[in-house]
Amino acid sequence: MSRNPVGPRSCYDESKRAGEAIIKAYELQHDLNTKIVRIFNTSGPRIRHGPEFGRVIPNFIYQALNNEDLTVFGDGSQTRSFTYVVDEIEGILKIVGRKETLGEVINLGNNQEFTILELAKLIIELTNSESKITFLPLPIDDPARRCPVLEKAKKLINWEPTTPLKEGLRKTIAWFKDNDFE
Ligand code: UDP
Repeated sequence: MSRNPVGPRSCYDESKRAGEAIIKAYELQHDLNTKIVRIFNTSGPRIRHGPEFGRVIPNFIYQALNNEDLTVFGDGSQTRSFTYVVDEIEGILKIVGRKETLGEVINLGNNQEFTILELAKLIIELTNSESKITFLPLPIDDPARRCPVLEKAKKLINWEPTTPLKEGLRKTIAWFKDNDFE
């Protein structure tokens, strides 16, 4: 997928790759052991939420629990794949603990894709919400798709995500309710 090198989110896109190159340079300079994990959209209890974060799952859950319209950007046909936080952490710990992962760059994510419109409808259903969906303009350079290739994680640490989206969402919604974020 091509990226806009000077768009409004280019500093975010480029800084992730720059971070990896810096880690590698540090490894070589100081003769260290390093491992790089690329995490993708992750969600679960205790996720940061609120207007300053703006991530889709906490936004939609908050809106649904408050019977506000869910704000789908664009037509909602863009896809994302969401990893439940416990799966993600298990993967990170395996990478930390195994020597096979030394010097590697490893994707940890989920490759089951959902459209943002599907996600909005699912969250309305799981919260029994009266909310409707409202469509707002798509942010500039919003990726149409983000889906990790997971073969390396499978091969090196025998890891793949196991928590279905629905189950992860149920737990995340329960946490929002328990903590009075409605
Ligand atoms: N999104 C949306 N409504 C929101 C927040 C986000 O439709 O209230 C969309 C956003 O445009 C993107 C997707 O949901 O297509 C995921 O957004 P997020 O910021 O969570 O992750 P990222 O874009 O970094 O993958």
